[in-house]
Amino acid sequence: MTDIPATYESSRDQFRAALASLSNRWAGSRLLSHSLADNSDLTIDVISADATRDKQKLLILTTGLHGIEGYVGAAVLQLFIEEYLPRLDPETTGLLRVHPINAYGMKHRTRVNKNSVDLNRNFEENFDSLKPLNSYYESLAHLLNPARPLINPFYEKLAFARNVLKALPKGASHIREAALMGQYRVHNGMYFGGFEPQAETKFIQKIVGDAVSDYAQIVLLDIHTGYGPRWQMTLVNPPSEKQTAKETATRFNVPLVAGVNPDEFYTIHGDMVEYFHKMVASKYPDKKVYAGAFEFGTYGESLLQGIHSLQTTALENTLRWFGGSDAMHTWMKREYNELFVPANPKWWQKAQADARQAFDGILSAEEYFKE
Ligand SMILES: [Zn+2]
Repeated sequence: MTDIPATYESSRDQFRAALASLSNRWAGSRLLSHSLADNSDLTIDVISADATRDKQKLLILTTGLHGIEGYVGAAVLQLFIEEYLPRLDPETTGLLRVHPINAYGMKHRTRVNKNSVDLNRNFEENFDSLKPLNSYYESLAHLLNPARPLINPFYEKLAFARNVLKALPKGASHIREAALMGQYRVHNGMYFGGFEPQAETKFIQKIVGDAVSDYAQIVLLDIHTGYGPRWQMTLVNPPSEKQTAKETATRFNVPLVAGVNPDEFYTIHGDMVEYFHKMVASKYPDKKVYAGAFEFGTYGESLLQGIHSLQTTALENTLRWFGGSDAMHTWMKREYNELFVPANPKWWQKAQADARQAFDGILSAEEYFKE
């Protein structure tokens, strides 16, 4: 039975402790704790365990790209250690596990890093060319970026609802896209992708880039929360994945798969899974690769739940930049936690069942299990 960890530190202790159970079977397993330059008590921890005889298959599990989502991510990693490790063959299979990519965000229970950058919009090279993207963003500033201290929950809920109604004539999908696709101009705005690659981005690019070079086959799974239906995890394929969502669902025997394109998801740039999928495919065309994200939904995906999620994300960002009353802080803490780490034990029960189904389906289709 795995619980969702309560703090960044206790989660990291648990992650580090798993090195022992890995070392039993993978001789030479190692832990790397990478300090973020300006804050030595925040680390990105990486456990690598190379195949002991023949480097055939590599499994990469990454968590906490969106800081606060790392709590559920770490618990899913722990579930993997307890239930799936015994089913892998150390002679031919290597492991790389990361806890969490965005340590600052996990510690401070927010999605973004210290520079307020959404790291899943940051896996890009030419940031100048991204500036013109999402040209509607500023036109929705009153909704997405109220640049003032927040007053109280009652007032702000009304103000947000009024602004949604004002913006709705532009169309719900227009708002959704402007709000979610990421933007590269407003540093204190929502889903800001950065002006340059972040330290976390460069670190993980190096770690994964080095790890994949020796293996013939790679599976990379990146764990997230907050998107999709509340009671069913979504497996998200990157845009460069050639299988359709339907083909993926059949092949992996999972009920819900989405592809990242405007019909099935929203257009995003700087996505990490896409970056690694494309990197492997272009640099090593002979390697076999599957890369995808687990998205455990929380609020739900109806229009009203979508608006609720937008409200939480916009107000949390505003509160971080412009401050607000104590009542706002208390309320927003609860709202934000519910969006990324739901308190209901039944939610976590179902999330674990969904994680098992996806691990079973993917690792069996990709032939990672010992007979
Ligand atoms: Zn996420």
